[in-house]
Amino acid sequence: ATPAEEKDLVIIGGGVAGYVAAIKAGQEGLKVACIEKRGALGGTCLNVGCIPSKSLLNNSHLYHQILHDTKNRGIEVGEVKLNLEQMMKAKDTSVAGLTKGVEFLFKKNNVEYIKGTGAFADEHTIAVNLVDGGETSVRGKNILIATGSEATPFPGLNIDEKKVVTSTGAIALKAVPKKMLVIGGGIIGLEMGSVWSRLGAEVTVVEFLGQIGGPGMDAEISKSIQKILGKQGMKFKLNTKVVKGDDSGDIVKIDVEAAKGGKEETLEADVVLVAIGRRPYTAGLGLENIGLEVDKRGRIVIDQEYRTKLPHIRVIGDCTFGPMLAHKAEEEAVAAVEFITKNYGHVNYNAIPSVMYTHPEVAWVGQNEAEVKEAGIKYKTGTFPFSANSRAKTNQDTDGMVKFVADAETDRILGIHIVGPNAGEMIAEGTLALEYGASTEDVGRTSHAHPTLSEAFKEAAMATYGKAIHY
Ligand code: FAD
Ligand code: NAD
Repeated sequence: ATPAEEKDLVIIGGGVAGYVAAIKAGQEGLKVACIEKRGALGGTCLNVGCIPSKSLLNNSHLYHQILHDTKNRGIEVGEVKLNLEQMMKAKDTSVAGLTKGVEFLFKKNNVEYIKGTGAFADEHTIAVNLVDGGETSVRGKNILIATGSEATPFPGLNIDEKKVVTSTGAIALKAVPKKMLVIGGGIIGLEMGSVWSRLGAEVTVVEFLGQIGGPGMDAEISKSIQKILGKQGMKFKLNTKVVKGDDSGDIVKIDVEAAKGGKEETLEADVVLVAIGRRPYTAGLGLENIGLEVDKRGRIVIDQEYRTKLPHIRVIGDCTFGPMLAHKAEEEAVAAVEFITKNYGHVNYNAIPSVMYTHPEVAWVGQNEAEVKEAGIKYKTGTFPFSANSRAKTNQDTDGMVKFVADAETDRILGIHIVGPNAGEMIAEGTLALEYGASTEDVGRTSHAHPTLSEAFKEAAMATYGKAIHY
């Protein structure tokens, strides 16, 4: 066999973490190859995650709004019909455009794209099983593992992606289920639950904890969005655990009981969405061949510079520590390459925003009120409701609020939490404020255009150090 070609950097995984690192490395003049096995670049996010789910969220929201929220606006429409096949096609078009776009960026930045499954043959060599058949291998002075994550299965339920689905099946259902049961009221459960509820399914969410939204969401905001989603028709069973499921028939039966033990009940659904979290994916990577280990939760162990105990091998994105978010993976990708080329890199993990793309959206950055309280910090809060914001009123979209959590003594912002229209865009301003160490008064004394939703952001800041004007 011919000796494997040596690169400055070999990346395993072409998801957001891997492809961003590849482009950055190309820009920095490194000889770089990126190995991806799914036949398309962009990973979970572009192919079966962020992008397809947002396409369905956007179009299902339009459909729902046209059905229920036009008459009062003076728009009378005729017969409204759902064409699910076309809605799925629109989603596929968005996905294909973006994944092809990444392929173009690879060419532009001299990244070699190897379509296949990579595994460690030794500490510097990756053996690749090519998608189109055959094998090759590539050597790297540096290696970056960016193999991502997969849905955590529910013991005893057989995921067929039709009747019992993860998010991957939930973005590709062929028909609107009559009844959908969602196990796990985190971000995936609420986003995908929203899609199918808007399209006509009766959706029930079973959540183990006493609040929805998954880790990090402020309790006051969580309560607010639960009420709003409830008005939209979603049902919630909190403090409830799934004991077991039976998926042998056409209708799936799920036994649930109170989390603390007690009352049992059997729920039935034609589609069950398992959304109880994701776990790092490192299967088949051959970590054992080079003596690398994963922790109890399957994460590859690394130091502050993303290095494993073999310092030329780094790990970023969903397959290691931190929130499983595309923009977190992207920050790490740039930092990891900079550690290789410049010996320094930086990610501020205290200022990574989270967004849930329901309607209205929920977005936050920094610490929530419970976390600040638990840390024993003296704090103050300020809120402003969208019902008192002029633009939200003109848009007839007034559910929600903005909430600041700030240090009581210094006024420095500790966290910002929003439930409301356009929260996902608005949180960028909050993230910048946090990144720059702003106080609530800095934000409150910054002019915000009128009439915009972002005035609610300014006024919530004003309410934290003083008083809002319009509430
Ligand atoms: P991945 O995107 O999972 O990419 C890893 C890639 O590595 C995969 O393509 C895989 O095929 C490949 N791979 C694995 N092993 C090998 C191997 N041995 N050889 C070759 N290739 C390999 N995050 C957000 O920030 N915003 C959102 O709106 C959002 N929405 C989401 C919606 C859903 C339904 C899901 C499931 C996730 C969502 N996420 C969202 C999370 C986001 O998708 C992940 O955080 C992100 O994709 C992580 O990027 P990654 O590159 O680490 O991993
Ligand atoms: P999650 O961690 O957000 O939520 C899982 C929920 O399931 C939690 O509330 C948990 O308490 C609950 N749960 C766990 N076991 C349970 C059980 N046996 N019965 C009932 N409830 C149970 O996970 P997810 O929603 O699956 O999402 C996975 C990852 O994907 C997250 O890290 C998320 O950040 C990411 N993601 C992000 C976005 C976004 O940024 N908009 C969208 C989708 C997914």
